[in-house]
Amino acid sequence: MPNPSLLILPGDGIGPEVMTEVRKIIDWFDRKRGIRFDVGEDLVGGAAYDAHGTPLSDETMARAMAVDAVLLGAVGGPKYDVLDFSVKPERGLLRLRKEMDLFSNLRPAQCFDALADFSSLKKELVTGLDIMIVRELTSGIYFGEPRGIIDDNEGGRIGINTQRYTTNEIRRVARSAFELARRRNNRVCSMEKANVMESGILWREEVQWVHDNEYPDVELSHMYADAGAMQLVRQPKQFDVIVTDNLFGDLLSDCAAMLTGSLGMLPSASLGVVMENGRPRALYEPVHGSAPDIAGQGKANPCACILSFAMALRYSFDLGDEASRLERAVETVLANGIRTADLMMAEDGKAASTTEMGDAVVQALEASL
Ligand code: NAD
Repeated sequence: MPNPSLLILPGDGIGPEVMTEVRKIIDWFDRKRGIRFDVGEDLVGGAAYDAHGTPLSDETMARAMAVDAVLLGAVGGPKYDVLDFSVKPERGLLRLRKEMDLFSNLRPAQCFDALADFSSLKKELVTGLDIMIVRELTSGIYFGEPRGIIDDNEGGRIGINTQRYTTNEIRRVARSAFELARRRNNRVCSMEKANVMESGILWREEVQWVHDNEYPDVELSHMYADAGAMQLVRQPKQFDVIVTDNLFGDLLSDCAAMLTGSLGMLPSASLGVVMENGRPRALYEPVHGSAPDIAGQGKANPCACILSFAMALRYSFDLGDEASRLERAVETVLANGIRTADLMMAEDGKAASTTEMGDAVVQALEASL
């Protein structure tokens, strides 16, 4: 069996800094657990633009299509704000998502006990929180036609976007949510606006169909997305997996993310169709951006990127136990009070650097043996 393959795209700003720490973790798994990846590295975003005049070259795109999983740091920065829209760093990321057809976006909202004070909610509401939001990523109102701004012929204008979903688009993301639920607490809550939108009615019916025909063992509930938003901040622990469309998922996943405190702690995965080798096409990346305000200063928290790699272990490589080992290592480091500046209160002591944080996670992994 060949080694599983990984393409690393560090990108811009703090991307390369946090990715350096992930490399240490990958090396550790190789040395200590015999889990060896064929790792390649390439450019994306502004870094790719600087080298090739495009935020993602055809060669890099082809490499991304050929590997088992892609791990990305972050793209963008003020230097590139003046570029034409077509070559902005973000276009590189969008091209990856589109050509890899990554329709299922997984955003966990997990609250590490040591960080419960950072949540905007009361500690008891978030301690032990572990939910997963599955957002449809390649269709819906952000892509539907017709779209645009047109004259209304009465001196005004009309802005148009179209919410459009097909049976297949809904069913495939629903399957993704049910599969996840089976690995977790076996519950899915589907959110839409079936009370006011036809696309919401279709969404509800198709999710129910997938459930009844393919996943009757998983508990399914439906909720209107506005009520879901309320419940997320009222009693977030009631949820296990939430599945929703592109627009509602955009809002709900950001809302859920803040339940857990810092942007520096949030991983994500975007999954596509299952390939011949049984693995889904997959891109793993931290939720945060390139953080130009702290780039190059050794202040970035590498945990979001490290936890994204943990998601890769679990969802691409079926190494759930090793993923849990890595997540526990991060938790141990935090519980021991080792924190980057974004996770510190004013009265706390000295902040750990990006490198110190990565080293501490490796030490905690070592101690887990
Ligand atoms: P950002 O996520 O880069 O930063 C927001 C704030 O959070 C900043 O104060 C930053 O210092 C802090 N922060 C973010 N990640 C951190 C980490 N790991 N450790 C410590 N602090 C962290 O968002 P922004 O400032 O709105 O955007 C900056 C650039 O990143 C822009 O060019 C934007 O387009 C791009 N961006 C890229 C992605 C991506 O690559 N997926 C996502 C969002 C924004």
